Order: sequence, then structure tokens, then C-alpha cells
Amino acid sequence: MPPQDDDTLYCRRCRMPGTVDELDRMLWCDECKRAERRRAGWLGRALGFAAAIALSFWIAIVIQPSDQFLLLWALVVIVAFYLLSRLGQELLYGVFRIRNVPGARAGDQDEDRRAE
Ligand SMILES: [Zn+2]
Repeated sequence: MPPQDDDTLYCRRCRMPGTVDELDRMLWCDECKRAERRRAGWLGRALGFAAAIALSFWIAIVIQPSDQFLLLWALVVIVAFYLLSRLGQELLYGVFRIRNVPGARAGDQDEDRRAE
């Protein structure tokens, strides 16, 4: 039996048709999830890097660590970079998924086509 049109779901981001198994519960396909994960990854790392630089300046200016603790503070900066990058990635990924800007744009195009 051929699949009925009524049962076909569409990715809410790229409007590609897919089945229940192919889309997640927010109706996104794997490719869209990967694309937004990549974008969130880069931006999250950039945020973590900026925060680590700011922390380094703060440590250098305010704390002024002695030579014997320099390695320990460097470790603090590295851990802060890692944690803030992860946090930024997860938060940004959530924001990208909720806002779904590419999907909203595709939705506008669908309505333009319907209006014609
Ligand atoms: Zn998609």
C-alpha cells in the first residue's frame, strides 16, 4: 500500500518530507539537527574562548598570581574554556531549535507560493 499524503510529515526546518522514525519529536530531520549542532558548536567555542580571554585578563590584573601558582591558574582558564564552551553550545542549540529561523523563512515561502 502506498503511503498516504496525510501521514507524511515534514521537517519543520527544511520542509523535507519524512516519516515519524526519521524526524524527532520537534519534527526535525537528522541533517538539520547536525547543521544546527555544528553552528552552535562554533559559536559556543567562540563564546568560551572570549570568556577565557576575559578571565585571563581578570586573573592577570586583579589576582596577579605568583610564579608558583601560574600553572594552577592556567588550568582554571582551560577548565573555564571547556565548561563555558559546552554550556554555550547547549544553550545556543536550544535557542536555535526554539527560534527555528530557517524553518520560519521556509514557512514564509510556502505561504507566498500559496498566495500566488
Ligand atoms: Zn530538515
